[in-house]
Amino acid sequence: MAQKHNPFSREQLDNIINNYPTPFHIYDEQAIVDNARRFKKAFAWNEGFKEYFAVKATPNPFIMKILQEEGFGADCSSLPELLLAETCGIVGEEIMFSSNDTPAKEFVKARELGVIINLDDISHIEFLEKHAGIPEVISFRYNPGKLREGNFIIGDPEESKYGFTREQIFEGFKIARDKGVKRFGVHTFVASNELDPQFFVDTADMLFELAIALKNEIGIQLEFINLSGGIGIPYRPEDKAVDLEFVGEGVKKVYEEKVVPNQLHPLKIFTEYGRMVSGPYGYLVSRVLHLKNIYRQYVGLDASMANLMRPGVYGSYHHISIVGKEDVPADHLYDVTGSLCENNDKFAVNRQLPKVDIGDLVVIHDAGAHGHAMGFNYNGKLRSAELLLRPNSDILEIRRAETLDDYFATLDFKAFEGFQA
Ligand SMILES: *Cc1c(COP(=O)(O)O)cnc(C)c1O
Repeated sequence: MAQKHNPFSREQLDNIINNYPTPFHIYDEQAIVDNARRFKKAFAWNEGFKEYFAVKATPNPFIMKILQEEGFGADCSSLPELLLAETCGIVGEEIMFSSNDTPAKEFVKARELGVIINLDDISHIEFLEKHAGIPEVISFRYNPGKLREGNFIIGDPEESKYGFTREQIFEGFKIARDKGVKRFGVHTFVASNELDPQFFVDTADMLFELAIALKNEIGIQLEFINLSGGIGIPYRPEDKAVDLEFVGEGVKKVYEEKVVPNQLHPLKIFTEYGRMVSGPYGYLVSRVLHLKNIYRQYVGLDASMANLMRPGVYGSYHHISIVGKEDVPADHLYDVTGSLCENNDKFAVNRQLPKVDIGDLVVIHDAGAHGHAMGFNYNGKLRSAELLLRPNSDILEIRRAETLDDYFATLDFKAFEGFQA
């Protein structure tokens, strides 16, 4: 069972709200650090182990800096994410650039920063050479196709747009070697929000097998494998969190069985987790504006899908607690909504909650990854602030809320003044 507690007391929250109006996202720094340390420890047996935090989950330099302190790098997928990493002083091989359908200028920046480039397609070897030059180290994203089932979210790898086929991985490494690449790695991403720890051990096993074949068949000795992301988080109270020690130990066992006897040791293990690094430690705090009683009972919040779109778009479960009513029986049935002119703007459908009153504070859990990051401005919604709960209980605003000026900033009202339709 996953514990769904708030890291702040009612009193503390009242104080925060005096300074920062709802809705806002708030992250628990100590919990992020504790989890990062636990994860690193699970893989401490592998000398070159490195986690590259998937920036897209929570693209905020304060969060990235906290993780950098713990030895994490950054997994970037776009130019702005590379620039964020650079701002944090995360450069060179502390960055993994795992992009797809990549514009030339993003490869240019990646080369300038000296990052590890993880190519998504065999044709990108030439594209990279033409626009940015061939680096000393390269990684290829492997799509195992029929050889492996993706999990429910990722789906069938054969239908996925990502990566090289198995044949292309071999071909690609030969081409890269001929062009002067000296160091090689392989990456794969076959699961998203997966809660079965064995899945990640099996993925490592698959990549170790590939490493053996690359060595035996074409003489390519891999320097690293990248297990990428996909560790899920227990969104529902009845879900069980992935046992990180089980994953670390399981991968170690396969490493000893396959990597060591095949003279592939030392082989570095890299990961690019995002969701499990920041997701459980971020909360969306909102206030109840309206109660509405028609065919169903509705709780209307001052947050909307523009602040957290996962429930509306994917039907995802996010646990909701009503501050101060944690011990009151959940004997009322509600849909919890935002104010978009979209009926899927609901944080919860048919959810049992304690009796809700107007003005109640509502905490939406597990919003730390793909929460604020997926925010948008549809219906004129302004994106909220992001706050950081520091280990000493101080509150730091790490991103201010958008203003109307921000919203209108890209419109040219000067040109509009003289405009005749
Ligand atoms: C999204 C993504 C990740 C992170 O996945 P999580 O599910 O957040 O752990 C890692 N690598 C790539 C290439 C991704 O697209």
